[in-house]
Amino acid sequence: MRSVIDILDLSVEELDELLAVAQDIIDNPVKYQNACAHKKLATLFFEPSTRTRLSFEAAMYELGGNVLSVTGGNTSSVAKGESVADTAKTVSCYADIIAMRHPKEGAALVAANNASIPVINAGDGGHCHPTQTLADLLTIKREKGGFGLCGDLKFGRTVHSLINAMSRYRDIRFILVSPEELKLPSYVKNETLKKYGLPYVQTTDLLEYLPEMDVLYMTRVQRERFFNEEDYLRLKDTYVLTPDKLKTAKTDLCIMHPLPRVNEISVAIDHDPRACYFKQVLNGKYMRMALILKLLKEAAV
Ligand code: ASP
Repeated sequence: MRSVIDILDLSVEELDELLAVAQDIIDNPVKYQNACAHKKLATLFFEPSTRTRLSFEAAMYELGGNVLSVTGGNTSSVAKGESVADTAKTVSCYADIIAMRHPKEGAALVAANNASIPVINAGDGGHCHPTQTLADLLTIKREKGGFGLCGDLKFGRTVHSLINAMSRYRDIRFILVSPEELKLPSYVKNETLKKYGLPYVQTTDLLEYLPEMDVLYMTRVQRERFFNEEDYLRLKDTYVLTPDKLKTAKTDLCIMHPLPRVNEISVAIDHDPRACYFKQVLNGKYMRMALILKLLKEAAV
């Protein structure tokens, strides 16, 4: 049974195919409105979410399908001590496909190994978040030049998945901006950037390389992954993008953020034509529609 746990579970050709289907959905929504009739998506979210869960659910409704939903560990059998494996086996009896978010790294993989239906990882701890990357890929206008990633590069799972996906483009130079304590984990650096010989620089100063960036991907400091509240409070406002700081940036910079935003981008930037983060939200729905369609089609064969 085909599941998507990591963005690398999808080949370059499949990513291109998903991008093309998402574009076709945008252009011809009516063609897809019954594509998943009588199918059920189970959204199992054991960690807070607004966009990802609603985006999956909106995606399934727009494909003419139905949704079964579990949110929070307290309202399900997880609170009684049920394992992820048993939950996955149980939900396989009711639904056709699962989207799952869990605070533990690897939980979605355990679910996939035990489910008899496809499982989509909707975020597993600080590990990865492949469907956010799908949204990001539809939003990024060009796959070359200076690619800035700023903020919590250590715990930010969207960053890890996105770097993996972008590592297939050869004309990119990564600019990694973070406090010392929140640098990109060495496993991501070794298994992608170094492995493929991709150029990158690391800095603590956002303004240093801002003029060279074509994309700036801001991220929130991931409070829920900290052991110590004091460290979070010290680091949370390290980078706040303001109109003033953007003065040295390119006029066609693409400013992204997986959201939720806490304080990383001033609301004064929201109307700047370079702000792409709400477009990213909408793109997430179309890419999740394309992915649900693909996995259900493959499961039917
Ligand atoms: N929404 C994204 C995630 O679930 C980013 C974030 O929470 O900061 O990882």
